[in-house]
Amino acid sequence: TPGSAEPTFTAPGTLTPVVTDMWDKERSWTLDAYRASGGYQGLARAKTMSSAELIELVKASNLRGRGGAGFPTGLKWSFLPAPDGLPRYLVVNADESEPGTCKDMPTLMANPHALVEGVAITSRAIGADRAFVYVRGEVAHPYRRLLHAIHDAADAGLLADGFGLDGNQPLKIVAHAGAGAYICGEETALLDSLEGRRGHPRLRPPFPAVQGLYARPTVINNVETIASVPGVLARGAAWYSSMGTERSKGHGLFSVTGHVASPGQFEAPFGITMRELIELAGGVRAGHELKFWVPGGSSTPIFGPEELDVPLDYESVIGAGSMLGTRALQVFDDTVSVVRVVSRWTEFYQHESCGKCTPCREGTYWMRQIMTRLEAGRGESGDVEKLEDIASNIAGRSFCALGDAAATPVLSGIKRFRSEFEAGYTTPAAELFPPAASSIV
Ligand code: NAD
Ligand code: SF4
Repeated sequence: TPGSAEPTFTAPGTLTPVVTDMWDKERSWTLDAYRASGGYQGLARAKTMSSAELIELVKASNLRGRGGAGFPTGLKWSFLPAPDGLPRYLVVNADESEPGTCKDMPTLMANPHALVEGVAITSRAIGADRAFVYVRGEVAHPYRRLLHAIHDAADAGLLADGFGLDGNQPLKIVAHAGAGAYICGEETALLDSLEGRRGHPRLRPPFPAVQGLYARPTVINNVETIASVPGVLARGAAWYSSMGTERSKGHGLFSVTGHVASPGQFEAPFGITMRELIELAGGVRAGHELKFWVPGGSSTPIFGPEELDVPLDYESVIGAGSMLGTRALQVFDDTVSVVRVVSRWTEFYQHESCGKCTPCREGTYWMRQIMTRLEAGRGESGDVEKLEDIASNIAGRSFCALGDAAATPVLSGIKRFRSEFEAGYTTPAAELFPPAASSIV
């Protein structure tokens, strides 16, 4: 209750199973299982608190956006203008599409009620009585899980009152399936898509907090951010911010994929290192050495073995020259051609470019052409410099973050492995790194 001492909780060792706490329990996705694990206690506490108290609590927890950018969550909520009698909305970004990112879909599959409870608490905090969850269209199963969880929570009366501007309205949660465009994960393109239009990024500012869905104040948060909110309510802000590093507090999902013995999700405090995570994942696969890795999907600059001890928090990873992003930690061993990997990612960005701005639309097309010939060993002299020039003219000159993301693997790949790119003037990547040796082709 407001003003009472916050509940205490001792975080276990390296791992902090909170969002993942129930993942290995039988029928973990059901309302009964969630409630048996203490689910919806956070919502009960939230209903005793005012909007301002809730926002202050989340601010005090130092929870930051888990979609990649790490923007402070409570601060974002506090940006909503004062109520004017008209609606305001919560939108959850479940359009998880960053290559390698695979944390939100397992959350929806294994523990959809953590998201539903988080949606309810957040809606109360911001005075919304309507919330939307935008799920990427290809993932029918997580979408159905979410639909069931919403219906079960509503049937149990959990969403019957306590929401809206006066705090007394029922909450309606809409699960919306997208149509499989990466750009619709960009928050303003997502809003366009939700409004029934083609997903194109909007100019910011105005930020969605001021003018979002249907031009009304809107909070947009990632699935993991919202699914972390019930824990903050149930266990307290002090508990949450007791984990992590000085500026990156709390726990997060670290998705380790690629050439490790046991790829998987590891929920841990921020500041854990890649060396520790690779150990938890059983090490790099037997008989091979780590060649390179990325901390946050294909949009983040490449790291090598020398960065294995960088604390995985927002500030340290930027300090070391990359970005934490979505914590999609992809491991590539010595069988992998960096040219082939960058070529796949470049194809992806070229395909997903929405075409609104010239640097990204044209630049990704040119980069793809050059990467294709370098991969085939048919590169032309000067191609590597041309790639650098094109990528440098996309980065910082595009309308949204997709352009920067497309330039990143090209520039960081060349920076670390220039000779491999230059080998593409004469030798196909498949000859230097036979695909049969690698499980990643
Ligand atoms: P951003 O830093 O521009 O914004 C982050 C959030 O803070 C947004 O919600 C934005 O509205 C809000 N914000 C920032 N400044 C604000 C202000 N002054 N007032 C009000 N609100 C403000 O980042 P972005 O472009 O939204 O997202 C980029 C990130 O997305 C990257 O870090 C990348 O890792 C991530 N990403 C994730 C996926 C995925 O599948 N999860 C895919 C692609 C990219
Ligand atoms: Fe569209 Fe790419 Fe421009 Fe973003 S950077 S608006 S995805 S063309």
